[in-house]
Amino acid sequence: MSPSIGVTHVPSEGPDNATAFFVGEAPGGEEAARGSPFIGRAGDLLIRYLDRNGANRNSVYLSNLCRYRPPRNKFEALLDTPQLEEGLAELQREIEHVNPNCIIALGSWPLYLLTGMSGKKAGTGILKWRGSRLTSLPRWGSRKVFASMHPSFVLRVWDMNPVFNLDIKHALEDAEYPELRAPKYESHIDPPPDELYDLVHEALDADYISLDIETFPGGRFSCIGFAYRRRDGTDCGVCITLDRPDLTRYVKEIWESDTPKIFQYGTYDTAFMRYFYNWRIGGYYDGMGHDTYVAAASLLPDYPRNLGFLCSIYTRFPYYKEERKLWKEEDDMTSLWEYNIKDIVGTMHVAYAQMGEIGELYE
Ligand code: URA
Repeated sequence: MSPSIGVTHVPSEGPDNATAFFVGEAPGGEEAARGSPFIGRAGDLLIRYLDRNGANRNSVYLSNLCRYRPPRNKFEALLDTPQLEEGLAELQREIEHVNPNCIIALGSWPLYLLTGMSGKKAGTGILKWRGSRLTSLPRWGSRKVFASMHPSFVLRVWDMNPVFNLDIKHALEDAEYPELRAPKYESHIDPPPDELYDLVHEALDADYISLDIETFPGGRFSCIGFAYRRRDGTDCGVCITLDRPDLTRYVKEIWESDTPKIFQYGTYDTAFMRYFYNWRIGGYYDGMGHDTYVAAASLLPDYPRNLGFLCSIYTRFPYYKEERKLWKEEDDMTSLWEYNIKDIVGTMHVAYAQMGEIGELYE
């Protein structure tokens, strides 16, 4: 006989005034046997990281999508069942009652059912989305959701422990206030020449300029973006596209200037522009620049160095790397230009955070 869905209802636990509301998938064997959520091995791991970050089992709300144990602990077996429907209805009532500042989705299924986000298929993609602050689907009140991994995954993939710890730290910080606090920045795509002139001169005066090119095969750039932080702390990103070759000379001035540069893997961008356009980068190879990819190699040597991962660790940008491909689907290049600006501002945020860490190492 194939195993069926458990009959023990495992209720949620936590104070009515909890600000952090954790949502797992469903109880496991230990939970079903003792009637309490997150008390098995995966639960212990979660609680350990709560403790490390100044919270504990009794200070947060612990809930699940479904209150019954799935056969072989496989959540997929619960899809389209009355038990899952019942669990989601309970979850909705609990969220409304507790009114938390931050809901933490533990794993791909909580992420999908709470926010609608996933990888290619529903119930996948948490490694892309983890570390992101998102908005829940209207059913859950359009509230802030922090995406992280399921603790049973972290038990299996030991390397992920420090990342999980950091996610829990960030989630608990986010539970101190309800709003999203998404990064804000000014964005200019092919601005009129007189405006561009002012932006370029403001950038040349900044501490750093973040640069990135998007390229097509065959030695053509599709756009060049630059971003900088103003003295008043606001961020500004500018994208010059292939539609306006007349504007590229302004960007060349930036490219060749001595103002220190920020790149994510600038070896590519600088070699491309030197080889195909004979632009020489200034303020980068002379020891003045900062490369987020290179810095990550010494600050986080055992972790991925791609910008998606670095943004999830160091910034409040939700996962956006898929937006690079949107223009093909939408047949509208504007999404590529907007992506380019997000990328340079994101790189700048990573760079400033890394510079802070490097500074601490030398204190
Ligand atoms: N324990 C739970 O209650 N839920 C999970 O998702 C994992 C462990």
